[in-house]
Amino acid sequence: MVTLKEKAEIDSKDYRMWFKLNEDTNIRVRTSVGESEPRLIKNSLGQGSFGAALASSLNIGCAIKDTFGETSSTHIGTLPLNAIVMQDDIAKLNDNLGQAREGCNKINNTLMRKQLAVNHDKCKYLIVGPRKFRKDTLAELERQPMRLGGVVIKHAGSEKYLGDWVNELGCKESIDDTIKERIGKQTSKANDIITLADAPMMGSDGSSRTAIRLFEAQVIPALLFNCESWIGITETQINELQGFQDKFIRKLMHLPVSTPKAILHWDCGMEMMKWRIAKRKLLFLRKIMKKENSNLCKRAILNEVILNIKGLGHECNALSTTLGLPDLRDKFDIITRGSIERAVREQGEISTRAEVEASRKVGDRASNDHKDREYLNYMTLPDSRIWMRVRARSIKGVKVNNKNSNNDLQCRFCDEDANESQEHLEVCKGGDYERRNLKMSRRKDLVIFWRRMTTKMTDWGRGIR
Ligand SMILES: [Zn+2]
Repeated sequence: MVTLKEKAEIDSKDYRMWFKLNEDTNIRVRTSVGESEPRLIKNSLGQGSFGAALASSLNIGCAIKDTFGETSSTHIGTLPLNAIVMQDDIAKLNDNLGQAREGCNKINNTLMRKQLAVNHDKCKYLIVGPRKFRKDTLAELERQPMRLGGVVIKHAGSEKYLGDWVNELGCKESIDDTIKERIGKQTSKANDIITLADAPMMGSDGSSRTAIRLFEAQVIPALLFNCESWIGITETQINELQGFQDKFIRKLMHLPVSTPKAILHWDCGMEMMKWRIAKRKLLFLRKIMKKENSNLCKRAILNEVILNIKGLGHECNALSTTLGLPDLRDKFDIITRGSIERAVREQGEISTRAEVEASRKVGDRASNDHKDREYLNYMTLPDSRIWMRVRARSIKGVKVNNKNSNNDLQCRFCDEDANESQEHLEVCKGGDYERRNLKMSRRKDLVIFWRRMTTKMTDWGRGIR
């Protein structure tokens, strides 16, 4: 409380009112297996509320600052670093073991003074650096373990910090760990959305977009949280994320695994992972560059330039060049949010179009008419499922669509000397009955035709004619 009063200049009457408002709060904890029993808590400032987070940040942050003062234990170029605090999470950065041990003692004393308990299970250390350094350090720690308040703290190869996994082997491994965990966690959520998609309520706006919107709102933010920090993300890692999104669309649209990715990307209209991450990085850099010069993150980026480290600034510069934008590190004040978003959207469109045009199977689907690829906006999900199959040339049962399992591609519905392709079936004499009352130039009628034709083909296989 003294901290709040002195450092944040909060009036003691305000503090008292805040305390009174939260006195004797009944809390329940929501867990994956339901809600817990209510519990009365005495001294709290609103567990889980924003105010409480702010107060605890201020409390611990100021205490750590008072303890360590201006001393530094490591640096990026000319930027000295010591301990970084986020709410109740403290990370101490050190160049050697002596500094780490001293840091442990100081942190323990500080927390004791504040009557805060240390969660010893969550206290870990990572050793970052060349292999020999890590080996020697570990050997030294074997002889004399690291302690915090008398309790030995353990070594961890990879540890979760503020939602991201930090692996001591480096950036690539950290991103690997983070992506793997996130995809694992989000898979069940994505599957729930797919199950939900068939509920009549989900199609009440007459479009097929509801499930995709839900995916964008619930899954994507959790998947890409803090992806601005994924420096040096590899092609493989981006593909892994893209694969997750593709799989969602494929399952939602009931499409086979063999569906060309190009048509999936072109028709679903969802942003590609590569560009999602690029956009977030650029917007983040712009935001940081607009901050005052004392901002730690800004200083780290400027030091990267001085030291010629390939960090966020370097990556964004490469992205800006691709997008035809000026370097954000100099021109951050003249580039708007909107212009970054627009540039990314246009570039994404260009690359997806190129992908479709390069496809052997669906190369002709890259028309300039927006209506051709925006059918998810005006067709219901069952219709969209058929239409996407038509577009992908993967209507079930059509001979040409699975060349491998059919030796004879001759149309089975007429006597003409023609291969049984989707294009032929749309005009095939054997489909006259399926074309009754339909205008085959209308998208809506084509969907009806293909629904009838699919039934015909399935029945044919079972011997019903
Ligand atoms: Zn035919």
